[in-house]
Amino acid sequence: MTSHADSGEDKMRQTTEKQKKQKNGYEYLMDLLYPERACTVCDTPLKDKRLLCDVCKEEYQIKEENRCDICGRPLPEEKRVCEDCKREGKIIQNTAVFFYKGEVKAALYRYKYGKNRYLGRRFAEIMAKEKAEAIKDADILIPVPIHRRRLYKRTFNQSEILAKYISKETGIPFYYDVAVRAKYTDYLANHTKEERKEILKDCFSVKKEEFVAGRRILLIDDIYTTGSTMEELGRLLLKQGAVSVKSMTVAVTEYDDME
Ligand SMILES: [Zn+2]
Ligand SMILES: [Zn+2]
Repeated sequence: MTSHADSGEDKMRQTTEKQKKQKNGYEYLMDLLYPERACTVCDTPLKDKRLLCDVCKEEYQIKEENRCDICGRPLPEEKRVCEDCKREGKIIQNTAVFFYKGEVKAALYRYKYGKNRYLGRRFAEIMAKEKAEAIKDADILIPVPIHRRRLYKRTFNQSEILAKYISKETGIPFYYDVAVRAKYTDYLANHTKEERKEILKDCFSVKKEEFVAGRRILLIDDIYTTGSTMEELGRLLLKQGAVSVKSMTVAVTEYDDME
C-alpha cells in the first residue's frame, strides 16, 4: 500500500469516528433515559432496554434441562440429586441464573468490589424476570447477611441490593435484618469445603423470629459455590420455625470450581 492510499484511508476512518461521536436526537434522549444501556454481563453497548446481549444469554444462562434438585447444576438424565449434594446431605434448594465463569465472573467482581451498585439492580431485574416461577412461592426474601466489619469495608451488602430490587420487581417483601452474621469469618473462597463448614458453624443468628415462623423464605445471594452458607443459614431458619427455605443466586460455580 502506498503512503498516499494510507492517508486517504486514515481520513476516511477519522470521518467515520467523527460521525459516530455525533449523536442524533433519538440517541441523545435514549442516553438520558437509559444511561447504562449495555449488557449487564459483558458491558457491550445495546441499542435497546435489554439487560443481556444474545451472546451472554447463550453462553452463560443456565438452561431448563435436567438439573440437580438441590444445587441446580446440570445432571445426566434420570438423576434427581447430584453425588455431591447426596453425600453432603444438603437440603436447601438453590436456583441460579448463570454459570459463574468468564464474563459473569468479571461482572460480579465489578459489582461487588468495584462498587458498581447499578449492576446489582440489573442482576436483580434479570433474576426477577428469568426466575419468576421460583420466586413467587416465597413469602419473604432474606439477603444472606455479611458481618458488619465487612459491611464497613465494602460499604454495601451485595445480597441486600439484589433482594431489594427483586422485591421491587415482584412485590414480595424483603427483610435485611432478620438474620445477622454474628461471627466474623475469613473469606470462604480461600478454604476447602470441609473448612468452610467449620468456619460457618454458628456464624449466623436470627434477630427477628417473628418474621421467620410460619414463612416460606427465599435466601438471596450473589454466588453459590459449595452451598455451605445456604445450608448453615437455611437450617437455622428452619429451626426457628420457617415453613420452607430455598435460595437463589445470580450464579453457580461449575463442579470443577467447587473446592
Ligand atoms: Zn453480553
Ligand atoms: Zn447438587
